[in-house]
Amino acid sequence: MKRIIVVGGGIAGLSAAYYAQKNIPNAHITLIESASYWGGKITTDRVAFEDGQFIIEGGPDTFLASKPWGVALCKELGLGERLHGTNQNKKNTYVLNKGRLLPLPEGLARMIPSDIPSILRSRLISWFGKTRMGLDLLLPPHRLNPDKTGAGGDESLGSFVSRRLGREAYQNLIEPLMSGIYAGDGDQLSLASTFPYLRDLEIKHGSLARGAIEMRKKMNANGQKIQGSRSAFLTPTTGLAEIVEALLKSLKPKVDLRLNTRVTRITRSDPRLSTFDLEFDTGETLTTDTLILATPAYTSGQLLASFDPEFASTLQSIPYASTATVSLAYRLSDVPRDLDGYGYVIPRREGRKALACTWTSTKFPHRAPEGYALIRVFVGRAGQDIPWGEGELLDVAKEELNSTLGITAEPLVLRVFMWDKAMPQYNLGHPEILKRIDTALEKHPGLALAGNGYRGIGIPDCIHSGELAVERVLKFSHSNVETSQPADL
Ligand SMILES: Cc1cc2nc3c(=O)[nH]c(=O)nc-3n(C[C@H](O)[C@H](O)[C@H](O)COP(=O)(O)OP(=O)(O)OC[C@H]3O[C@@H](n4cnc5c(N)ncnc54)[C@H](O)[C@@H]3O)c2cc1C
Repeated sequence: MKRIIVVGGGIAGLSAAYYAQKNIPNAHITLIESASYWGGKITTDRVAFEDGQFIIEGGPDTFLASKPWGVALCKELGLGERLHGTNQNKKNTYVLNKGRLLPLPEGLARMIPSDIPSILRSRLISWFGKTRMGLDLLLPPHRLNPDKTGAGGDESLGSFVSRRLGREAYQNLIEPLMSGIYAGDGDQLSLASTFPYLRDLEIKHGSLARGAIEMRKKMNANGQKIQGSRSAFLTPTTGLAEIVEALLKSLKPKVDLRLNTRVTRITRSDPRLSTFDLEFDTGETLTTDTLILATPAYTSGQLLASFDPEFASTLQSIPYASTATVSLAYRLSDVPRDLDGYGYVIPRREGRKALACTWTSTKFPHRAPEGYALIRVFVGRAGQDIPWGEGELLDVAKEELNSTLGITAEPLVLRVFMWDKAMPQYNLGHPEILKRIDTALEKHPGLALAGNGYRGIGIPDCIHSGELAVERVLKFSHSNVETSQPADL
C-alpha cells in the first residue's frame, strides 16, 4: 500500500489529503497537524447569544467565486447549497480619508477603475488626480527592459499603478484595497505574482480602463450564479469552518488524522532510497517516499534544512507579515453610525494601526442576532509594527471604532485572533524564488509543496495547490512503479 504523508492541517493540507484519498484509492494517508484543531487560518467561533448566535471568523471570511477550485470542492463536499454571497442590498465600501469615511467609487472590481462617472464624482481623488487617471487612456504600454528593472521585467504593484493612473489613485484607491488582501506593501509586491492580469490588460488593450470594461463584459456574461447571488465572494452559511468540518467528515475513518503532532525534522537516512524520515515532537518517527508539505514556506524550509540546505534557504527567503483580527459585538443602538455597507479600508498614508474594518453584520446579516452589530477590525501590515497581545490589540480596535464610528460603549462579545507570520509577501523577486523552488523539487520527485506561500494566497488557490501536490506525487508513484518493474515485464 502506498504511504502518503501530508504535513499541515490548514485548507491546503486538508485538500491535499482529500484529493489523495479520492485519486489514489489504495494509499495509506497520514495528515499531521501541530495545533490542537484543524483548519489553520480558517477558524470560526459560533457564539451563542440570547436566542441567536454571533458567527465570528478569526481568519478568512469569504472566498473568491471566480477562482473555480473553492466552489468545486464545496460542491463535491455537498456544501453547494449552503454557499451564499455577501449582502447585495447594502454594498457600500468606504475609504478612510483624513479621518473621514468617503465612499469607494463603483466599478473597482479586480482593482481597476472601470466606472468613469463614479470616479469623476468621487471625493477620494482631487481634480488633478482625476485628470492624471485619465492619462491611462493615452499612455502607451511601457516596455520593461528585464535587464534594467533588475526584476526580470517585473515591477512593483505600486510602480505599475502609479505610472498608469498616478500616485494619488494608487495611494487613495488601490493601495488600501490591495492591503486588505495581502497586508502588504504595494511598493514591494511583485506585480507578476500578485495581479499579473493588470500588466496583461495594459499590453492587450493599451489602457487599464479599456481592459477593465472588456473584462467586466466577459465576467457578466460568465457570471457565477449561486443561489441567485451575483456576489463575487462566497461563504457557507455558518462560516468557513463548514468546509473544514466537511473535509474531515470525508477523510474519516480512512485517513490517519493526527492533531497535536509537530514534525520537528525531516532527514534522509539513505539518499539512494529517496525516502523521507520524519521526526515528531511525540518521539515517534515515520518513513515515506511521498511527502506533501503544506506548512508555511519558512517552516517547510526549517524541516528540510538538514538534507537540502540550499532549498531550505530559498523557502525561508519568502517573507511573511503578521496580522490580527479583533471582532466586537454591540447593541445596534450603541453604534452612532448607520453601518450601511461592508465596512472600510484604511490607506497606509493615514498612519493608523488598523488596516480595515468589516461591518460583518451588514455584509452577512445572519451573522449577528437581530438588533446587534458585529464588527471586525483587521490590524497589521507588512513593514508596520503592531502591538502584539490581546489587550493591546483590543485597545487598537476600540480606539479605531471610537475615532471613526464614534462607538464608546463596551463590546458585549469580543474575540481576538493573532496570526504570527501568516501572510506571505510575494515581493519583487518572488517569480525567481518560484523557479528556484521548481528546480530544487526536481531533485526530490516524491516531495511536493502546497499552501499559500507560493502561487496564491486565497482559499481557492490553496485548495488548488493541495490538488496539484497530489498530482505531482501521483506522477512520481507511477514512475516509481514503472521503474521498479522487472525488465522482462
Ligand atoms: C486574518 C486573515 C484573513 C484572511 N482573509 C481571507 C479571505 O477572506 N479570503 C481568502 O480567500 N483568504 C483569506 N486569507 C488567506 C487564507 O486564509 C490563507 O492563505 C489560507 O487559509 C492558508 O492556508 P494554508 O493551508 O496554506 O496555511 P495554514 O492555514 O497556515 O495551515 C498550515 C498548517 O500547518 C501547521 N503546521 C505548521 N508547522 C507544522 C509542523 N512543524 N508540523 C505539523 N503541522 C505544522 C499549522 O499549525 C497550520 O495549521 C486570510 C488570512 C488571514 C490570516
